[in-house]
Amino acid sequence: MATVSFDAVTRDFGGSRPAVDKLDLEIADGEFLVLVGPSGCGKSTSLRMLAGLEPTQGGRVLIDGQDVTGVAPKARDVAMVFQNYALYPNMTVADNMGFALRNAGMSKSDSRKSVAEAAEMLELTELLDRKPGALSGGQRQRVAMGRAIVRRPKVFCMDEPLSNLDAKLRVSTRGQIAGLQKRLGTTTLYVTHDQVEAMTMGDRVAVLKQGVLQQVASPRELYLDPVNTFVAGFMGSPSMNLFDEVTVVDRSATLGGHRITAPNAVDVARVVLGVRPESWEIVSAEHPEALYARIELVEELGAEQFVHAVPQNTTATVRGDRVIVRVDHRRSFAVDETIGLQARPEETYWFAP
Ligand code: ATP
Repeated sequence: MATVSFDAVTRDFGGSRPAVDKLDLEIADGEFLVLVGPSGCGKSTSLRMLAGLEPTQGGRVLIDGQDVTGVAPKARDVAMVFQNYALYPNMTVADNMGFALRNAGMSKSDSRKSVAEAAEMLELTELLDRKPGALSGGQRQRVAMGRAIVRRPKVFCMDEPLSNLDAKLRVSTRGQIAGLQKRLGTTTLYVTHDQVEAMTMGDRVAVLKQGVLQQVASPRELYLDPVNTFVAGFMGSPSMNLFDEVTVVDRSATLGGHRITAPNAVDVARVVLGVRPESWEIVSAEHPEALYARIELVEELGAEQFVHAVPQNTTATVRGDRVIVRVDHRRSFAVDETIGLQARPEETYWFAP
């Protein structure tokens, strides 16, 4: 049982801005919190400061209300799972998993019992006598998890633990890790750059940009109610379509011939207007009240397709120069075809520029 608090935690490597800038973040007891953001935003540094592997230069890290800022990693009762697994190649799976326990002075028989229990949970029982070199990537990943579990730590710190697995294994393993964490009830900080991983695994997700925390919320809330264009653009794939410099008159905006009324009050004259790929209706290219767009690319995914189209009858510029529309597989589209688009007004986002 443990809570974690980052209290104005800062780390500056002497670059143009701090790697982590006054981070305030609370992780509840038993919570699975995912820290997500693009490469270099300070995720790993934050995690390493919790584990004690990186010094802080301001602020405090608390575990269970205790200030651990100056405490050595070993004394924090935090278990790390690294991206590269960091297994000892010359030790068996059993020894890799039991190493920390033996080091901490646990008896051989107790250690063996803990390892056997964890191995059972992770379906590693048959593999306990093998060396890491004789394991698949997925099995190595589970050994790395096992090594963290056996210690029964207060907190798990996981740094991109799935990034070396192939796409299919990543999907099944993320379910296993989330399930295991729930079963153990261990407070967890999980770092990833993958927003799908963040959405599917986290009880809550914290979004970082250039060392600054943008928003902490449940996956659903982040998706439906992003605080700014960065979070809106980062969460969701394909990204939200963002139109810059859209003029607002009487709470309405126009994209081509399509007039959209804001779902809520808007108190600025210009906005960045956001429409998710699934929030468009496709209408006829002759529809007088539509945004017309010429199809440039159709990405077929089987169940659905992503239609990329260049807007024709608007002066508003869309980021990336193309509108992306998510459509089911039932209709087919041709490159160079013109489509009419209307956004569902209640699903539009109106950001102050
Ligand atoms: P990634 O997803 O690529 O691993 P990240 O979000 O985990 O990125 P960090 O590794 O925390 O990012 O790095 C944050 C910033 O701090 C980056 O600009 C990085 O270059 C810088 N940085 C990290 N470690 C060091 C170091 N030891 N010395 C100097 N700069 C560093």
